[in-house]
Amino acid sequence: MPQNPEAVSMSGITAVRGEAVTFTADPFLHPEEECVRHYDDALIVISDGKIMDVSEYADIAPKYPGLSVVDRYEDALIVPGFVDCHAHYVQTSIVGSYGDTLLAWLNRYTFPEETRFSSPEYASLIAGRFLDRILLRGTTTANLFATTYAPSVDAIFEAARERGMRVISGKVLQDRNVPEALRDPSAEESVELSEELLLKWHGRGRQLYAVIPRFAPTSTPRQLELAGELYRKYKDAGVYMHSHLDEAEKEIRWVAELYPDCASYTDVYRRYGLTGERAVFAHCCVVRPEEWQTLHDSGCGVAHCPSSNLFLGGGQFKFWEAKDPERPVLTGMGTDIGGGTNFSVFGELSEAYKVGMIKAQPLSIIRSLYLATLGGAETLRLSDRTGRIEKGYDADLAVLDFKCNDFVEWRMQQCSNVWERLFALQTLHPSRAVAATYAAGRKYTREAHK
Ligand SMILES: [Zn+2]
Repeated sequence: MPQNPEAVSMSGITAVRGEAVTFTADPFLHPEEECVRHYDDALIVISDGKIMDVSEYADIAPKYPGLSVVDRYEDALIVPGFVDCHAHYVQTSIVGSYGDTLLAWLNRYTFPEETRFSSPEYASLIAGRFLDRILLRGTTTANLFATTYAPSVDAIFEAARERGMRVISGKVLQDRNVPEALRDPSAEESVELSEELLLKWHGRGRQLYAVIPRFAPTSTPRQLELAGELYRKYKDAGVYMHSHLDEAEKEIRWVAELYPDCASYTDVYRRYGLTGERAVFAHCCVVRPEEWQTLHDSGCGVAHCPSSNLFLGGGQFKFWEAKDPERPVLTGMGTDIGGGTNFSVFGELSEAYKVGMIKAQPLSIIRSLYLATLGGAETLRLSDRTGRIEKGYDADLAVLDFKCNDFVEWRMQQCSNVWERLFALQTLHPSRAVAATYAAGRKYTREAHK
């Protein structure tokens, strides 16, 4: 296990010390500087996986004279643990497969790979490998697709439980337009199995369940109808809905053919009761104004997956549309492994900046870091417990390393403030940008993982 036993003591008190930044509000809706809290030298006191205190070291250190374990970071920045709002752990092995179009890529690489997850052994091997990769890159909360089979769901929840990570996942519902080996035998059976898995995993430790129709084209209307019923039945218990939406023009035309009575792609999900709080849609690149309105009105969240959109050439997410103050839509970042090419949410921010610049819409570093942390937590309706460095919150932290290599260390010396340093680090996104990750207070580092 990639943990440092010294800092893992769940019953004792530990602490992390160093420069830190966190958010108090949404910088797309309020003046940016008012949304940020910066500590020159924070002491973050952790007990039982939660932050029991945080302030400037000089102010609160005297309250904790007996602190035996303090991880001190210099030339670093402690930020809330990253939130990945959309990825497919089952596609870990096909990252970097020659793209072509979305639909061709699915048929050629994705579907054959996903059939391997009927094996519990293979599923748990990849689940562990995936979670270790994202943990070492600062991600402490992830909203993940499994695939058709129950073992693919059990494996990811089991692996997350072992690591103290919060994962939202569930069985993928797909009863048409996928190869037979992946296809659900019937809409009824598939949703029954999803409910069984929901009852097994939802709320167990940090694990949360999602009802996951892959996307409208791979479900019959009957399956979407039953999926909508399942989501509504457990919505108040905190169950999620997770799917894809408006990724590429060709896909949108296909949805219009399959669902001719629906006014738009978003309207398909709305009609079947699949929109609402804790409904999260990946991509949303080609979205009509009335669809944004529906997403806003129903309280849905969306995941911006820039490296995937660039890699598969689907479209470009327009954050200025999503976050329009007139009708803002909850927005977080998604790596979308394996259409995405980046296991790191921080790395995705670099791509998000470039995608904005194509349309002359620069994404400020404050807004950018917000999307990866508190914005993601708000998108997943978890902002009462993660996404901030705040008393009472889960001790989910990422430590960015301003001297992770010689060039970065020298480059940082050219910067005059923390935001310049952070923007340069984001843009360069070196492979070792994250020095350590704390998931509910459990520490992960590359050194310990070797
Ligand atoms: Zn996806």
